[in-house]
Amino acid sequence: MAEFHKEDIARLMDGVLPWPAVQDMLKSPKDLDRFDKYLEIMAERVPWDDTILLPLTPQLMIVARKGERVVKCLCGQEYGDYRVNWKLSALVHVRDSQQALDEIYRGRDALDEAWVQLREYICPGCGSMLEVEAVPRGCPPDFEFLPDLDTFYREWLGRELPDKCEYEDRTLAVVAEWSSEGE
Ligand SMILES: [Zn+2]
Repeated sequence: MAEFHKEDIARLMDGVLPWPAVQDMLKSPKDLDRFDKYLEIMAERVPWDDTILLPLTPQLMIVARKGERVVKCLCGQEYGDYRVNWKLSALVHVRDSQQALDEIYRGRDALDEAWVQLREYICPGCGSMLEVEAVPRGCPPDFEFLPDLDTFYREWLGRELPDKCEYEDRTLAVVAEWSSEGE
């Protein structure tokens, strides 16, 4: 595969190709330099200075900030430790009535309010729609992607991150803290 130039990557990011193509490009181990170019472009585009470690979604980045790894929106809004599902810190608009669901899906695609709710996760900082999930009622928010950053850097990029961080899903621990605060 040909090397990706920084301008090519910028074009990809600007939507010439869809986001999955960009992710494929990043996943291919053949030209690891493209990952650093990608981070360079992102760093030029965001209004803050924290080092980007990994893009999580088109809108959310994992960044290094004061010895911690936190999720941050392009606008600067922070979502805390990346090992905790960022959805816990987002605004959520839940569509769980038939009328609200029908505004999105109609006809053959219609969802049944008895079974499904649509959750729209919105950034409190900039109002961007970050994610939409269609899930059974009562289902906890889906934690789509918890990357093992240390392994990714060591085995894919061939370098270590300056700090170490235990790789674990801390979402339930945070929820447990919230519940004990209410007692
Ligand atoms: Zn934002």
